[in-house]
Amino acid sequence: MKKIIPKKDIKKPIVIANWKMNLSLKQRGDLAFNFKNKIKNIDNKDIVVCPSVISLMQVGEIIRDGDIQLGAQDIFWEETGAYTGEISPAILYDLNCRYAIVGHSERRQYLGETDEMINKKIDACLENNIIPIFCIGETMNERHNNQTDNILLSQIRKGLAGIDVVGEEKIVVAYEPVWAIGSGQVVTPEELERVLKLIRQSLINIYPLTIVNNNVRIIYGGSVNPDNVLGFSKLDLLDGFLVGGASLNVDQFNKIIKAL
Ligand code: PEP
Repeated sequence: MKKIIPKKDIKKPIVIANWKMNLSLKQRGDLAFNFKNKIKNIDNKDIVVCPSVISLMQVGEIIRDGDIQLGAQDIFWEETGAYTGEISPAILYDLNCRYAIVGHSERRQYLGETDEMINKKIDACLENNIIPIFCIGETMNERHNNQTDNILLSQIRKGLAGIDVVGEEKIVVAYEPVWAIGSGQVVTPEELERVLKLIRQSLINIYPLTIVNNNVRIIYGGSVNPDNVLGFSKLDLLDGFLVGGASLNVDQFNKIIKAL
């Protein structure tokens, strides 16, 4: 039986911290305390932290009753069974994860995650009332060969194949150019605006306009920091950020939240 997602969450801007495989257990606990204490009174934005899976319980406990929600960096598509090392959506839900990153380029690149696997993971998220943060993006090579649009459209088409978004279900599409992640390089605001329009149009080709307007957020990730964030935050079609490196410092992350 599906649980109901509260209506108030629909289409607020969102800022997501992806801590990746960084920090010791203790450092993650300390950073979670800092997040809880310094990131407060945010009622017009969703703020999500995605720690390593081993710290979900610890960080979840620390941020409980605060303004920050919990997300996982990955999810598996089966509910139960012989899948050594995997974590089911139901367990993540029980751990209070309401978001999961799906198809991050590091998983596509280093762990062989395919569009088909990503599609099953997005489906599993929605079935379990977890909001998928669906990552798409081109490599530098693909950009140089003028393949950016084709790559993005193909990732969207395959990732969302057969996936209905209905009622109050939500998805987040994160445009993360692979070459911008962790590199200090960012897309220009003009190019980002062009890509946001492309992504939005491709979603309108799949879903009713009201669903795209109300239930789908399109965000950017790739070397976002307090210095470059202002150039992006004025873009009308941008609903938020996925932040890696800068989310390991609470003050930098807070500045990014405030700039949006
Ligand atoms: C990411 O890995 O999702 C990311 C955006 O990282 P960074 O901000 O470090 O580029």
